[in-house]
Order: sequence, then structure tokens, then C-alpha cells
Amino acid sequence: MHEASSKAVNRVQPSPLSILPTVPSTDGWRAHARCRGLDPAIFHPVNEDDAADEAKAVCDLCPVREPCLEYAITAREKDGVWGGLTTRERRRIIRRRRRSA
Ligand code: SF4
Repeated sequence: MHEASSKAVNRVQPSPLSILPTVPSTDGWRAHARCRGLDPAIFHPVNEDDAADEAKAVCDLCPVREPCLEYAITAREKDGVWGGLTTRERRRIIRRRRRSA
């Protein structure tokens, strides 16, 4: 959510709905992203494995962590922390899924 639409996010005010503890439908997950309005650089640290703690802390409390992670895996997002996982961690999931398919 943070990378592709970060410019659009900066123009949009956070919705009060985003604080509701409900899990929205798959299509609307971006509107509930906890990273809305935050500096996208947090989610794109220079060294993901060493400096992803701040992003992961945000994702840990995000109500749409699961659809975000699935989006990143499906879209093969190559950079940044998505759904609380770094690129390397997502690659591990992709490899595991391939092996079990
Ligand atoms: S899980 Fe993290 S990256 Fe994904 S929408 Fe939520 S805060 Fe943003």
C-alpha cells in the first residue's frame, strides 16, 4: 500500500473508519492500512533485514495485514515491508508455497 500509492496517500486525509477494529473486504483493504499518511521510507529501509523494525511495529497493529501480505506475494513486490514481512521473508513464503503445490 505504501509504495505504489504513497503519493496519493499523502493527499488523502486518514479516514476515521481506519481506526475501527474490523477487517474489511479484500478489495477495500488499502483504505484501512495503518501506514496511510506515514513516511513511505519507513517501509523501505536501506537494509531491510536490519532496519525493518519500525515498519514491522506498524504492521503488527494493522487490521489489514493479511490481505496486504497476500497482495505483496501475489504481485511479487520486490521492495519494502508489506504485511509485516521483508522481501526476503516473503520470498521464503513463496518458495514454501511452490514446494507444497
Ligand atoms: S500491513 Fe503494514 S504495509 Fe500493509 S497496509 Fe498494514 S501497515 Fe501498511
